[in-house]
Amino acid sequence: MATIFSRIVKGEIPCYKIAEDDRFFAFMDINPVAKGHTLVIPKREDDYIFNLEDDEIGGMMVFAKKVAKAIEKAVPCKRIGVAVIGLEVPHAHIHLIPITQESDMDFKKHVKMSEEEFIEVQKRIVENL
Ligand code: 5GP
Repeated sequence: MATIFSRIVKGEIPCYKIAEDDRFFAFMDINPVAKGHTLVIPKREDDYIFNLEDDEIGGMMVFAKKVAKAIEKAVPCKRIGVAVIGLEVPHAHIHLIPITQESDMDFKKHVKMSEEEFIEVQKRIVENL
């Protein structure tokens, strides 16, 4: 059965899309730790990032770098924190999180964002790609 993220890539489940190319896809996390929290995934399903081939994990990081640079410009922050957890969704993904201090990377805290805010932040990130 397709993962929830594969269904997002196919457009079967809506998302606030940031970017895609032939191999990778970026979209905003629905339950963000910070405004601008974005996920980067390979379109090919694999449940564990460190099972990806060298070329795929390398390509995903280069793709994530472009997205991170755009988030940096779109959201006030010191830099973009990177995390890999993967315990909830069995489809490899990288969390990109705008941070100003270490405690901003707290996955037990979440920020509420209205649909209008998601659309506004999405627009700002996409404009900076
Ligand atoms: P992890 O697998 O790294 O522990 O967490 C999965 C992440 O995916 C969580 O931050 C969660 O909010 C996000 N997530 C789970 N389901 C969806 C979804 O359907 N849409 C979006 N945009 N994000 C999701």
